[in-house]
Amino acid sequence: MEQVLQQRLNERQRQSLYRVRKTIASAQGASVVVDGKQLLGFCSNDYLGLANHPEINQAAKQAIDKYGIGSGASHLVCGHSSEHHALEQELAEFTGRDRALLFSTGYMANLGVITALLNKSDYLFEDKLNHASLLDGGLLSGARMQRYLHNDITSLELKLAKTKSGNKLIAVDGVFSMDGDIAPLPELVASARRNEAWLMVDDAHGFGVLGKNGGGCSEHFGLDQQQLPILMATLGKGLGTFGAFVAGSNALIETLIQFSKSYIYTTAMPPSIAASTRAGLRLLQTESWRREHLVELINYFKHGAALLELPLMESNTAIQPLLIGDANAALALSAGLEAKGIWVSAIRPPTVPAGSARLRITLSAVHSKQQVEQLLQALAELMPRVNHEQ
Ligand SMILES: *Cc1c(COP(=O)(O)O)cnc(C)c1O
Repeated sequence: MEQVLQQRLNERQRQSLYRVRKTIASAQGASVVVDGKQLLGFCSNDYLGLANHPEINQAAKQAIDKYGIGSGASHLVCGHSSEHHALEQELAEFTGRDRALLFSTGYMANLGVITALLNKSDYLFEDKLNHASLLDGGLLSGARMQRYLHNDITSLELKLAKTKSGNKLIAVDGVFSMDGDIAPLPELVASARRNEAWLMVDDAHGFGVLGKNGGGCSEHFGLDQQQLPILMATLGKGLGTFGAFVAGSNALIETLIQFSKSYIYTTAMPPSIAASTRAGLRLLQTESWRREHLVELINYFKHGAALLELPLMESNTAIQPLLIGDANAALALSAGLEAKGIWVSAIRPPTVPAGSARLRITLSAVHSKQQVEQLLQALAELMPRVNHEQ
């Protein structure tokens, strides 16, 4: 075994695709302590800066005093606490859905939804750039899965037209995690309706951030439960805590409770996580300044990057990737930034398509304009050199 594994590892290293973890010795925030060094971070998904908010932290501490740390069992056995239950009701109300169901992670939610809804006589349509968990859910379900060209409704409809009997599900990222662009949801809603297909949106990167109240993509486009019947979102990104939920009709939620294996056969998240997520949800609704400040930073960064002619990808969200192409060049740029005290990780295949390695810059409400300016200046100094080396 050692030999076989070592060969694979060597191959990965040779392709400049080897992954190494950096160790953080601080809370998330604008400034993080990484491998003993203080760096200005632009790569977390903590878009609103709620991952280390005193009220949210306090809610977890209080819940631990009351419930202890462990949930003790799965939701169906004896692990479903009143904190979980209240959070589900609040999420349903917040998203304007009949009900919501908590999952321990977003990965598990996507596996659980798709496998509970589809089997091998059904069809699944996914955007080419969908998150790995949506693709894995499709594989696990056994459904006939087809991937359409990114954000291309014509490509989707050509595939939909060829289906025969069986249920059809269209599953898509709301905000694409490595690109930052938003799926054309109104067109997808119309296409789903025309083709009698079900629609599922994974709003991991939109929830909390997009929409007037942070309701995410469905609020951004004003899509109700009729139009967007399967809404999934994660809690470990914009909301700053951990876990995920699915919101929709009573029949959908009951189906997941009965048939979703990644819901049934796993330990419920700690009640303290649910309690702190409730505190985060209250902050979302009462304090809109984080979203407003984030939008300002996004505009400021895009404007500065355009002046510098940086190869920014087309995005209006907090995810602002710089397309580099070559994996080695992306690593070199990331290392150059680190030498200047800035942390942006290089994203390489297979996370993104071959030849499209990038620096995935993410902005957060914890950043100041001055810190974004610091990032722009560092990029201005480094980018000509990287281009030249190519
Ligand atoms: C992060 C992410 C997930 C997984 O969520 P976790 O709670 O981290 O497991 C699912 N879908 C998308 C689009 C994501 O970005």
